[in-house]
Amino acid sequence: MTQKVAIITGASSGIGQATALELSNQGFRVMLAARREDRLKQLQSEVINNGGETSYQVTDVTSFKEMETLAKATVEQFGQIDILVNNAGIMPLSLLNKIKVDEWDRMVDVNIKGVLYGIGAVLPYMEEQKSGHIINVSSVAGHRVGPGMSVYSGTKFAVRAITEGLRQEMKSGQNIRTTIISPGAVATELAQTITDEDIISGFQERFKDLEFLRGEDIAKGIYYAVSQPDHVDVSEIIIRPTEQS
Ligand code: NDP
Repeated sequence: MTQKVAIITGASSGIGQATALELSNQGFRVMLAARREDRLKQLQSEVINNGGETSYQVTDVTSFKEMETLAKATVEQFGQIDILVNNAGIMPLSLLNKIKVDEWDRMVDVNIKGVLYGIGAVLPYMEEQKSGHIINVSSVAGHRVGPGMSVYSGTKFAVRAITEGLRQEMKSGQNIRTTIISPGAVATELAQTITDEDIISGFQERFKDLEFLRGEDIAKGIYYAVSQPDHVDVSEIIIRPTEQS
């Protein structure tokens, strides 16, 4: 059994929660991070009941200080950080002419700055250890834009750019890998952040017959990336529902 340590942001629901369960079932020790402590506590109990090793740290990814505290707490608890899954994200889609400035700001803060702060918090430890793996969750929306998706897609294109830049900056011998994972439609709480009524109705119509992926489907992709030998960098994965256009 491997004893690698993985930090997972956005572990309180959806893809993050499923990834925590998958990695712990596969023998990884998992540090859970998000803002909703009740959810983290519940997940912690589930992981422990399944025989896994875990801890949690209430964290807002938009605060670099809190991300540094998360990294420090992980090292204090488990002695190392092998994997960071930068998964926390929000998707309040809207048409640009609705001028939802607060939602634009929050998407930039969580989806872009949160990913950067995660990288900044763990990189010193990974460089010191000369090993690590940073997985950033982008989206099919990070490959393709559509109406109402401008800002969200912008943040997810940015996640891909940042991850690819990080990959290229890592020098030979540092043994730090990067993975971009781009899910299609997954049945989670994500769409609940949408407030634009036009988008909500369009969204329901567009996806009414689609069989969505489950969080576990993405978690398995993440496990595939982290379970490869050191010389294999799974740089990018897209996972869509078969019927998604
Ligand atoms: P959920 O809404 O179920 O999960 C989002 C997670 O992000 C929650 O755990 C939430 O926790 C956390 N989060 C949000 N804001 C913050 C914050 N400021 N600080 C810390 N954590 C935060 O959605 P998904 O599981 O679907 O989303 C996970 C990732 O997958 C996101 O990056 C999303 O963009 C991406 N994705 C999802 C797709 C889908 O169809 N579901 C498709 C493509 C990509 P809490 O509120 O407790 O802080």
